[in-house]
Amino acid sequence: MKEAQWWSTANGKIQCYLCPRYCKIGKGQNGFCFIRKNIDGTLQSLAYGSPCSVNIDPIEKKPLFHFYPGTNILSLGTLGCNLGCLFCQNWSITKIKKAKEPGKPSRELLPDDVVKAALNNNCPGIAYTYNEPTIWAEYAVDIAKIAHSHSIKSVMVTNGYITKEAFHDVYDNIDGANVDLKSFNEHFYRKYAAAHIDPVLQALLALKKETNVWFEITTLLIPGLNDNDEETKKLCAWILNELGPDIPLHFTAFHPDYKMHDRGPTPAETLEHARYIAMQCGIHFVYVGNVSSNSANTYCPQCNKLLIQRGWHSIVRNELIDGKCSCGEAIPGRWMK
Ligand code: SF4
Ligand SMILES: [Zn+2]
Repeated sequence: MKEAQWWSTANGKIQCYLCPRYCKIGKGQNGFCFIRKNIDGTLQSLAYGSPCSVNIDPIEKKPLFHFYPGTNILSLGTLGCNLGCLFCQNWSITKIKKAKEPGKPSRELLPDDVVKAALNNNCPGIAYTYNEPTIWAEYAVDIAKIAHSHSIKSVMVTNGYITKEAFHDVYDNIDGANVDLKSFNEHFYRKYAAAHIDPVLQALLALKKETNVWFEITTLLIPGLNDNDEETKKLCAWILNELGPDIPLHFTAFHPDYKMHDRGPTPAETLEHARYIAMQCGIHFVYVGNVSSNSANTYCPQCNKLLIQRGWHSIVRNELIDGKCSCGEAIPGRWMK
């Protein structure tokens, strides 16, 4: 536990301005995310130094496909979340019951210890992932600062629900990100995620225009909810027009979980079809995930050569030389020297 950043007091309550919920939190209460608590008039980050999940993952699992492919990344997450997705695929750590008791299933691991663990396990990167890292940004940023002094990169795997006020404090310390764009529909965000789409779009724009962070986008396609062609076309057109054709886009498969058991998992054909639409629209790198598919490979947008062949979260072959195809086309991303 550590005193939080990004809060002020108003009318006897604390207002947290880390994420666009702007929770007003009375004494003894927690914010919506449950890991920020008003204790005796100060906001405390209960997650600081207390990850509940720590693993070494392939970076492809985040998913990040254009960011040091084939490397391992030390991955950690805490409890709680600032969104209320009915289809949460990680609800055992993000949802309220367990998160009400932060600290219990967690271990103490201070920022120094996290960086040491990355060094000891030859991980060139650390990922803030599993639950929403924005809500424990104090911890993530402190780790990232120490990590940079050892040339270790930091990655956010995030829903992009962060305020303008906090954005640079966090992302000026981050090297890579995968941002969920859960749909291209405000109604969907409100009804199924208890949130709004605009702050997520603003965060994506800020990443593109105001930082040097390498980022990719993930859209989980849920049968009957956000998998219709019209919405996919709108989502792709926005990405193309606002962010350009070189931001990798991942369509991943939903499986029934948490409060959404009224439909089956996403068929592979749905993902392939969405990928087809996105490629037709002009996005250069479109991938499908959570199913086995050739569409997880990277092809040169200029000559169509297979550049990176992937198995399930692993690299089978990498033909890139200094980040370029043999035809001379530079492939956007961050590559090993
Ligand atoms: S980070 Fe948590 S406490 Fe702060 S505004 Fe968001 S949900 Fe509320
Ligand atoms: Zn080529």
